[in-house]
Amino acid sequence: MDEKWREWYETVLLPLVGYDPNQPLSPALQALLNRDPAEVDLALLAADTDRIQEYVFESARLPEIRGGSELLRRLNEEDLPRLVEESGLPSDDCVLYSRGGSFLALLPTAVAESLSARIEQLYPQRTGAASITCVWQSVSARNVLYGLNGHHPSTSDSSSVVGFGGLVQTMGILLRRRKEMPAVRPFIEAIPFAVRCQMCQLRPAETMYRYFEEDNQPLCFVCRQKANAGGVGRARQGRSAQVNRFLKWLKNDAPEELSNHYWQNTSAPDTFSAQDLSELGAVCQAQTGRRYIGFIYADGNQMGRVLESLPAPATYRYFSNALSEAVKIAVYQALAENLHPARIERVSPTGRPLEEVCIHPFEPLVSGGDDVMLFTPGHVALPTAVRLAQLFEREMKARAGDILPHPTLSVGVVIADSHNPVRVLQYLAQDLCKRAKKRAHHEAKNGHPTSTIDYFLLKSQSMLRRDIDQLRRTPPYYYEGERTGTGLRLTAAPFTLAEACTLLTILKTMRRQSTPMSQLQSLVAALHRGQQYSSVYFLYQQARAQEKAAFIGHLTEYWPYDPKLDPIPWHRSPEDGEKILVSILPDLLDLYPLVPRFADLPPTARAEALDNLWQPILKEANRAG
Ligand SMILES: [Zn+2]
Repeated sequence: MDEKWREWYETVLLPLVGYDPNQPLSPALQALLNRDPAEVDLALLAADTDRIQEYVFESARLPEIRGGSELLRRLNEEDLPRLVEESGLPSDDCVLYSRGGSFLALLPTAVAESLSARIEQLYPQRTGAASITCVWQSVSARNVLYGLNGHHPSTSDSSSVVGFGGLVQTMGILLRRRKEMPAVRPFIEAIPFAVRCQMCQLRPAETMYRYFEEDNQPLCFVCRQKANAGGVGRARQGRSAQVNRFLKWLKNDAPEELSNHYWQNTSAPDTFSAQDLSELGAVCQAQTGRRYIGFIYADGNQMGRVLESLPAPATYRYFSNALSEAVKIAVYQALAENLHPARIERVSPTGRPLEEVCIHPFEPLVSGGDDVMLFTPGHVALPTAVRLAQLFEREMKARAGDILPHPTLSVGVVIADSHNPVRVLQYLAQDLCKRAKKRAHHEAKNGHPTSTIDYFLLKSQSMLRRDIDQLRRTPPYYYEGERTGTGLRLTAAPFTLAEACTLLTILKTMRRQSTPMSQLQSLVAALHRGQQYSSVYFLYQQARAQEKAAFIGHLTEYWPYDPKLDPIPWHRSPEDGEKILVSILPDLLDLYPLVPRFADLPPTARAEALDNLWQPILKEANRAG
C-alpha cells in the first residue's frame, strides 16, 4: 500500500468495511461519524460491462465464444482489482464486488475519478469491442452505513431503502442512466477493398491466423483476441481456462468419489476441450442419432432485491461471495455427476478428418454473479439443469440461509442440433429462463418458493420464427378447448424442481421397462384431437396397459393428477388454473429418446448403469419430498 493512503485506510476504510450492524459502533467508526463529512475523502465507484452477450455471442464458433467470455472474466476478476492496487490501495479491502461483469469499490475521491477513466479505457483496449460503464459518487460515512438519506434506520421512513444496499441501488440507477447516454463506442471502419475478417465478416482483417494446421485465415483484432483467449490452434491442442478451473476444482476441492466418477477409466493428460459445438453434439446419446447440444441459462431469483437490502459493506461482500461460490460449486458438481470425458472424431473446420481425441464434453461460460451459461451434449442438458437447481438451493442455503432462507434458481434449457446459430440458442434459453422465473414467482406468491425449469426441444429451424410464448399459443403446441375460453397446451413446462424430478423418474422408469416409442406416439397423437377424445383414448390404453403391467398404466401413480378436476392425461395449468389444460405426455415423447440406453454395455452392466442413472438427483428429490 502507498504510504500516502495509510491514514485514509486506517481511519476511513477499515472502520467502514468492518461495520457490523448487529454490534455497537466501534470507537473508530464513532470517530469517523463525528468528523465533518466535508473533510472525509470517500467515494463509491460502480462499473458494469455493457452488452456482454452481444460481445460474447457475436462469434458463431465455440473457441471464440469461450475466448470472449474468458477475456471479460479476466478483465473483471483480475484486471480491475489490479488497477486498484496500482493506485496504491489494497484491493482486498477496497473492492467489495468484482464478478459477473460488475465492480464495486470504496475509494478516495481522487482515485475514483482517475480509476473510472482507466477502467473505461481498458475494456476497448484489450478486446477491441467490449466496453464498460463506470460511475462514481462522493459519499459520506453516514451514507455508507445508513443509505442515501444518512439517517439511522430506526429514525427514517420505513418505506425507503435504507443501509448500504440502498446506496448500491442508487449507484445502479446512475449506471443505467449513464448507459442510456450515447457513449463513444469502439468503431472500426471497414473500407470497401479491405479483406473482411473470416470469423465475424464485419470488420477488416488485420492479421492471419492458423486453425488446425490449415490455411491461414484473415482475422480482425477483436476476433484474434478472442481466439487467443479461447485456445484455438493445433488439432491436439485445446486449452480452455474455464474447463481448467473445473478440473482444478475436481482435483483439489471435490470429494475423491466425484472425481473418480467423472474420470471413469480415462487417463487425465490426453483430454482436451471441445473445439466446436458439433463435438459436443457428437457426444449426444439420442436414440434418434440426432447430434443435439444443450444450452443452459440459469439465474438466481430475487438476488438483485436481496443485494439492495443488505445493511453493510461487509454483509454485501459476504453475500455476493456466498452467491458466486454456491453457483460455482453447483455448476461444477452438476457437470461432474452427469458427464464423463468422451471420445470423438475431430475434423477441421473445412471437414478434413483429423484424429480421434478425448474431450471434456461441456463448456461453462460466464459463471460469476448469479448468471450461469453452459453448453452440454443434448441428452444430459435437462438432468444437469435439474441438478444445478438442487445444488444451488443447497449450497446457497448453507452459506447464506440467514439472509435468504429460500434461495431458488430459474433455469432455461434449449436442446437443439449443434448447427443452429448460437445467438438463437442463447436468446431462446434466456426466454425460457424468463418463463421459468414467472412460474417461480407464481409459486413463491402462493407460499411455495422453489426453483423452476423450462425447456424446449428445437426440432426444426421453422420453430425459430417465434418466441416461446407465441409458440406455445399456436398449434401444434396449443389448441382451443372444447368449452369456450379454455385451451389445451401440449407441454407441462415450466416445471417446479419437484415436478422436474418426477419427470426424470418417469423417464427412467420408461427406459427400464423399454416402453415402446410407438405407444407414446399414439397417445400424443390423440392429444391433438381434443380433450374428450384423448382422455377416452388414454383411459382405454391405460386399462390395456395395466393388464400387462406396462408403465403407461401407472402414470397416475407418478404424476399428481386430481381425479375429480384433472381429465387425465391432462391436468390444470398451475398458473392459469382450469382455463388451460396441459399434458406431460408430449414432454415424455420429446425427452424419452434422450434417455441413455447404454446399448454398448453387456446386459448385467446395462441394468446396473440404468439403476445408477440420475441417482444423486432422485435421491435428493426423495429427501426433499
Ligand atoms: Zn472478426
